[in-house]
Amino acid sequence: MALNVLALADRLRTEADAYLFLEELRWGDRPVCPHCGSIRTPYFLRPREGSSRRTRTGSASQRRVWKCADCRRQFSVLTGTIFHGSKIPVRTWVFIVFDMASSKNGVSAREIERKYSLTAKTAWFALHRIREAMTREPLAGLLSGRVVADETWFGGKPSNRHGHDPRKSIQGRHDKTAIMSLVSRETGEVRSQVVNNVKPATLRSVLREHVVPSATHLHTDSARNYRLIGHEFASHEAVNHTNREYVRGDVTTNHAEGYFAQLKRSLDGTHHHVSREHLPRYLAEFDFRYTTRRDSDTERMERIIRRVAGRRLTYRPARGEACR
Ligand SMILES: [Zn+2]
Repeated sequence: MALNVLALADRLRTEADAYLFLEELRWGDRPVCPHCGSIRTPYFLRPREGSSRRTRTGSASQRRVWKCADCRRQFSVLTGTIFHGSKIPVRTWVFIVFDMASSKNGVSAREIERKYSLTAKTAWFALHRIREAMTREPLAGLLSGRVVADETWFGGKPSNRHGHDPRKSIQGRHDKTAIMSLVSRETGEVRSQVVNNVKPATLRSVLREHVVPSATHLHTDSARNYRLIGHEFASHEAVNHTNREYVRGDVTTNHAEGYFAQLKRSLDGTHHHVSREHLPRYLAEFDFRYTTRRDSDTERMERIIRRVAGRRLTYRPARGEACR
């Protein structure tokens, strides 16, 4: 079902609605105990007084709580997920996930802070928790077929930013971060990562991690670095950007360049400043959004919600980065 923000608001009128919504998406009609994995029908702990229960502080809570038929422990649909242990109402969480899923350039912590009356820090953490759910599965398979590989440079001093004479920009690379992206022409999936440099050995090791060399037709621009390792793949075709050649037959790196353009627009325009330390999390967000670009906003939101379990944050904001 396609939802826009109005339909979502209509469906999630109360906290209990939001719990139900997550239960349906994560479990279908069969709750799974996050403690022992049991799918034996658990007991629903019906609140004594109507639809809400009292918390220790005396306020009404609409948490939907279950008790496992095997291990006898209690759980809710939030247990063991990125939403667990947060003070943000579940309803608000679902809306923030929808915002993340439906905005092309991402949303800034500032926007979320204002829109949902959260503190700056809470908003910052909420977005990073959702990015955690957007991270690629650790056991994602290897790519094969036509794969575009390309790199870009990000960050650095404003005087070194893009738009300056490219011949001078080599100097500026000292304070820039290199990003390498692989785009599968077969599935549309993109995988990006921060790399220390763009030497052939580095590019090779990233490629080895993500593709089956003997089944991969590598498309790159004519950078010399790839010419040195191209023979290690089923084939290697390069378009020659210095000759203003961007497409030759089936060979093009436009997919990667389109991705980088969007990424930079967002990092500069929406987020303003992203430290190198946290850059991988933003890349995960953009890879996810690009990979699922043909999905509807609702499908993208549902994908995120199905991936919220088993991912916990273990870091703090970097100094000076708090809450941007
Ligand atoms: Zn259990």
